[in-house]
Amino acid sequence: MDIFVDVILGIIVVGAFGALSYAIKIVSVSGLLAGLVVGLTVWLFGGWSWFVLILLFHLSAAFFTKFKYKRKAKAGLAQEKGGAREWPNVMANGGFPAICAALEGLVVFLSLPGEIFLFGFIGAVATMCADTIATEVGLLSKQTPRLITHLGEKVEPGTSGGVTILGELGALIGTVIIGGGGWLLSSFGVQFTNSGTNFGVFLLIIAIVSGMLGCLVDSIIGATIQGIFKCSVCGKITEKAKHCGEKSIYQRGIAFFENNMVNFVAATIGGVIAMGLFLIII
Ligand SMILES: [Zn+2]
Repeated sequence: MDIFVDVILGIIVVGAFGALSYAIKIVSVSGLLAGLVVGLTVWLFGGWSWFVLILLFHLSAAFFTKFKYKRKAKAGLAQEKGGAREWPNVMANGGFPAICAALEGLVVFLSLPGEIFLFGFIGAVATMCADTIATEVGLLSKQTPRLITHLGEKVEPGTSGGVTILGELGALIGTVIIGGGGWLLSSFGVQFTNSGTNFGVFLLIIAIVSGMLGCLVDSIIGATIQGIFKCSVCGKITEKAKHCGEKSIYQRGIAFFENNMVNFVAATIGGVIAMGLFLIII
């Protein structure tokens, strides 16, 4: 495609989804700006097919965040501000995928094969889609969550590192949405890289394996090194250094290592796992 047309089309499509996301309060102003940076980077350097995959994540995350929001809000477990995501959240989820897309653009420019970055991208997006759906669906579970590092230990819903069967099923659905989207597109002949290879069902398989492992890493980091606090007002265990407008009391983990950093690290690890799988299998 003509580069000029591609840029104009990217601005229109990414801009339209950004405006829609802002209008239905999926993102705040800062989240919108970060989303435009991520979306345009992915579109321009990866291509429209890459953008479709990250859009699938974005829309699924929005759907499951809003899903039974009132019930989650009543239990004090919902995302703040109606679920509108701020820029740190967007960059935690989209940062590594955007880097992979940029690297893809670079290797294409240098006429080198860029397939490995496609898998880095897919592994990271699958991990974030898995983690987001696992969290949002898991909060609705009637089963008491158990700590991933000590499965005998029951924890309160919403606790970092807490897992439920429903949540893990949600994670699996998240990986299938991303990998299945890739598989479907490739079955229509869409190519994600300039190499001419059609990866077909491997996109699905690698998304499932890397996404589930990345999501597992996310839970383990959440249960171990993520900073956990106790609210000095309402007494809730929280991952926020501030709760109910007051500074919360340190409980465990590394105090500054908060949820968005956990997500960024987990997404990166999910991406690296997918790149490793690509090197081994393909
Ligand atoms: Zn509180």
